[in-house]
Amino acid sequence: MAVDKIAEGVVVSMTYVLTVDGEEVGRANADEPLEYLHGAENIVPGLEAALEGKVIGDTVHVVVPPEDAYGYYDEDEVDEFDLEDIPGGEALEPGMMVEVEDDDGYIYTGTVMEVTEDSIVVDFNPPLAGKTLTFDVQVVGLREADAEELDHGHPHSLNDYYDDEEEDEE
Ligand code: ZN
Repeated sequence: MAVDKIAEGVVVSMTYVLTVDGEEVGRANADEPLEYLHGAENIVPGLEAALEGKVIGDTVHVVVPPEDAYGYYDEDEVDEFDLEDIPGGEALEPGMMVEVEDDDGYIYTGTVMEVTEDSIVVDFNPPLAGKTLTFDVQVVGLREADAEELDHGHPHSLNDYYDDEEEDEE
């Protein structure tokens, strides 16, 4: 069955330019388009909704408010840690990404805000929290997802953008 438009269960290839506050912060060009599985929340909800029903060759310009992207900035997501609790913490500098494991073994990724002699402040908000995202997208390819892709909730073809490590271990 050929796929002619974007719908749930379709793997979409697209080029895009992402602009925030007038500055380009991300892009995928035609030589290495981004692939995602439509309906699986691989991309922010506001962009996914704007792409519904589009066909190959369509261009989409969409402005996505924070509530349909990475949410609003939350002051409560900023935490301070004792430096001794962070392995390698002395080497960290503001702006670096850091992974912190909680008591249940869940790993959170955050951005280092401040490092003092004995403490470190980490912001766990997504880097684009509170931002309005402007996407310029062109749809360059559509195909049906296979059963394994539907099961995993992401496409498998292009690169290792979608991390399968956990699934492979099962
Ligand atoms: Zn997978």
